[in-house]
Amino acid sequence: MSETEETILEGMWDCPNCESANKGSAMKCEGCGSVRDEDVKFYLPENAQEVTDQAEIAAANAGADWICGFCSTSNNTAATDCKQCGGPRDEGTEQKAEEYKPAGAASASPTPPPPAEEGKGGGGMPVALIGGIVALILLSCCCLWWVFLKKTTEVMTVAKTEWVRELPRSEMRWVNETSETYPKSFGTSKLRNIVRGPIKVTKTVPEKKQVTTTKTINLKNGKFKKVKETKWVTKNVTKTVSVQGYLYQREKLVKLKSLYKRGAPDVTPSDPKRTTGSGMSFNRVRYGRVLTHYEVTFKGKKAGSDPVVLSSKDNKELAPSSIEELKTKYPLKSEWKVTYSGTGVSKVEKP
Ligand SMILES: [Zn+2]
Ligand SMILES: [Zn+2]
Repeated sequence: MSETEETILEGMWDCPNCESANKGSAMKCEGCGSVRDEDVKFYLPENAQEVTDQAEIAAANAGADWICGFCSTSNNTAATDCKQCGGPRDEGTEQKAEEYKPAGAASASPTPPPPAEEGKGGGGMPVALIGGIVALILLSCCCLWWVFLKKTTEVMTVAKTEWVRELPRSEMRWVNETSETYPKSFGTSKLRNIVRGPIKVTKTVPEKKQVTTTKTINLKNGKFKKVKETKWVTKNVTKTVSVQGYLYQREKLVKLKSLYKRGAPDVTPSDPKRTTGSGMSFNRVRYGRVLTHYEVTFKGKKAGSDPVVLSSKDNKELAPSSIEELKTKYPLKSEWKVTYSGTGVSKVEKP
């Protein structure tokens, strides 16, 4: 499905002899009478005239002029012999129409880029806005690096060592969900309050868009042809749409904050107390297996600096793995050279 619109335009050429501007189809210079030679450069002026005469249009479309092999005169494609010297066409040079790109085409490009095609409207976005977005992304990357990845090495002292008992908890809760098809319960998950209604879904759907391209062709016979092609292209567009579906609640196990109990190495570890909830909520809480971690808290020498925690919870390789190790390896106030970033401690050495 495409539609093509063609326009024939009158070109120009400048006489190399007297610099007169001549109509493209003129075979001789109107100023000095020089013959339009083989090196002629046709160009399309901004105010080029559209050719409307049917015979002229047919002639323009018939083909490029050919150059006589004996006298270099340009000859109409219909001519079999040179009109100047009678030389035969098959000893002359054939020319071909070609796409026209005017010199210094930056501002007057004959081939504008196709308009924005996708639903996001990316193509129409002003340059400043794109620049702003790029700058913002760069800035957030920098911030991210600064906060999380930038490594600091500092001599620090052990401010605290502790064992930590963690009691993971979760709770059965009714969670809102939507589905395009009738919801199914799976495993132990129960469903309730199923109603039919409009829901939002993200879908990739084919969408037809109109794309227009324009190009200008130098017909090499003094005329130019502007070809505007309009095509329908199908693109996959991802978007949120509203469809009829089901709204309901599903019973799901939702993680709650763990309960903790901590203590110094010389205190015997004990488990956190299970909270006594009330009614329904109490019955719905499920407890996991108690986990034990070992933590060392380092403090920098600068007043007010944030403490750095090394925990076996997230750093099994570096952190101590027993109360013994807490006591013997990291006595309080001992000094360490600690390398850390926002994601944790990466190195602990003797200073
Ligand atoms: Zn001239
Ligand atoms: Zn000739």
